[in-house]
Amino acid sequence: MGAIVHTHSVYATAFAVAGSPIPAITEEIAQVIGGSVDHAPYAACGTAELGKLAVKWLGNKQAVLLAKHGLVGVGRDLKEALLSCIITEKTAQIAAIAQMLGGYRELGPYEIRDLRDNYLNKYGQ
Ligand SMILES: [Zn+2]
Repeated sequence: MGAIVHTHSVYATAFAVAGSPIPAITEEIAQVIGGSVDHAPYAACGTAELGKLAVKWLGNKQAVLLAKHGLVGVGRDLKEALLSCIITEKTAQIAAIAQMLGGYRELGPYEIRDLRDNYLNKYGQ
């Protein structure tokens, strides 16, 4: 990864405060992030521990929630890292609204894999 963006956007931070991952419910989050956005355990802001936890919980995805804090998105460049944050925030908002409307079904692991593979290797080429 070549760039990182950190935000305190409202819906993603609400999931970070609630201690809930942002579910993989849209094609966009599967493509750009690589699945659900997981929730790293709490560490105080500005500490090396927070950085280590964020990297560990990021795994091979492009976004991670920081407990009681916000969101980190990464990308191959700054434009893609910002896109990671935008797609995560949008999906968090959709998940919150869908929950009020009766719920949602997450994409399955094979659907996520195929969407992610298509985005990384074929989309826009
Ligand atoms: Zn912050």
